[in-house]
Amino acid sequence: MEIIYTREALTRFRENCKNLNKTIGFVPTMGALHMGHISLVQQAKKNVDYTIASIFVNPTQFNNKEDFNNYPLTIDQDIKLLIQYGCDAVFIPSVEEIYGQKGYHPFTIPLGKLGNIFEGEKRPGHFDGVIEILSILFQLLKPEQVYMGLKDYQQVMVVEKLLKHIGFPIQLIKCATIRDEDGLAVSSRNKRLSPNERQIALNLYKALSEIKENYQKSEISILKKSYFNRLNKIEEIQVEYIDIVDSQTLKPLKSWNPIGKNIVLIAAFVGKVRLIDNLLF
Ligand code: AMP
Repeated sequence: MEIIYTREALTRFRENCKNLNKTIGFVPTMGALHMGHISLVQQAKKNVDYTIASIFVNPTQFNNKEDFNNYPLTIDQDIKLLIQYGCDAVFIPSVEEIYGQKGYHPFTIPLGKLGNIFEGEKRPGHFDGVIEILSILFQLLKPEQVYMGLKDYQQVMVVEKLLKHIGFPIQLIKCATIRDEDGLAVSSRNKRLSPNERQIALNLYKALSEIKENYQKSEISILKKSYFNRLNKIEEIQVEYIDIVDSQTLKPLKSWNPIGKNIVLIAAFVGKVRLIDNLLF
């Protein structure tokens, strides 16, 4: 596997691929890789000639310094895992390499309402950071496809908007959420949970599943209020939001949508670790 550290080398990688008429599938990550990330690599490998991941803990998308400082870093393990699963290349730039360029100006796009709800509301500036880093990476690599996980559902919607706005011919491939056997969505942040907290975190998935089971059987507003209260009663859990919305617009539902067009979104702290998850139904 080729390990690339600089913008220049990344541009060279892209030029080589284009010269050989090979397609590129891109998997952007912040490292601390797990099977969720690997599932994106595996899907890319099926569709393109070259699969390249990136590992960059992007400081501009963290609204909370403690979260940034505590973000797990496991580069050696990550590289081994990418090799094991046949990734062709990985880009691991430093912060300097990305943002230290002379005349660099932050870039963002208007997100409208999407930028002010859920993750946009609770993590001010987060999506601006995501847009900033992805627009740089897309510009440098110009992949045919980018693979992103639906676990970060709102992020996928933001990236869809970004691609439309900048007009790059990059196809966004939305990949299903990978879960542990007991249902917990795998996440780099799970590494920071104690065994007890991990067990408690399962209540988030349980709440999502039970809401899905109650599709059309219960009042939407009563369901979300009752799960908000139930989860918050657990000492280690602090819910930021739990909401049932339209899966295409993230707008509140007055009544149930047809099957497949409803989504329940959750963000909650378990101890000091902030987790997000969702279920489409
Ligand atoms: P991150 O490293 O958390 O920024 O995630 C990098 C990419 O992996 C994003 O597109 C995420 O949505 C995706 N991802 C993270 N966790 C999962 C998961 N459990 N299942 C599928 N994709 C995931």
